[in-house]
Amino acid sequence: MKQPSSITKLIGKFSSLPGVGIKTAQRFAYAVIDMSEAEVKDFCDAMQAVKTNVHMCTECGNFTENEVCDICAHRDKSIICVVSYPKDVIALDKSGSYTGVYHVLHGTLNPLEGRSADDLNIKSLFRRLDGVKEVIMATNPDVEGEVTATYLAKLIKPFGIKVTRLAQGISMGSDIEYADEVTLERALDGRTEI
Ligand SMILES: [Zn+2]
Repeated sequence: MKQPSSITKLIGKFSSLPGVGIKTAQRFAYAVIDMSEAEVKDFCDAMQAVKTNVHMCTECGNFTENEVCDICAHRDKSIICVVSYPKDVIALDKSGSYTGVYHVLHGTLNPLEGRSADDLNIKSLFRRLDGVKEVIMATNPDVEGEVTATYLAKLIKPFGIKVTRLAQGISMGSDIEYADEVTLERALDGRTEI
């Protein structure tokens, strides 16, 4: 029996999401069929609201519903922690021990895939270096993360600003977003100058 085309289409949409295989996409689609009209509308409204209301903080590039995010509005701007993705801010901020601000690059340098400095949120980082005492490179400890950290460190150090890298502890090749709170707190506390 051929599946109704609207179900096939919805499964296709779900399976295009990161980490969602065809089986999970099918389960999601059948769950939607079981929802009430009101639940489906709530679901669609929530997706639409994210698209309409969320944008990049004009200072750090993190996601916010305001012009400037809560962290930039209230925290110590003399220390900036540079990360690749907004989800890394959530991971690093969980422990609550870091009091500085962040800067979100929205990616890493990868010349082979054609991602250069112009494709990342880098220019705005240099606009906010006035009065900054330290920049912490908290890109992932993989090849792209290291290349990105080294590249930025070379550009920032001539401003007389201390540049540090998260301490080892997050194993090489793993993602900051999956590291636990204690590991991340230790990595921040034990950061070393590069
Ligand atoms: Zn911000």
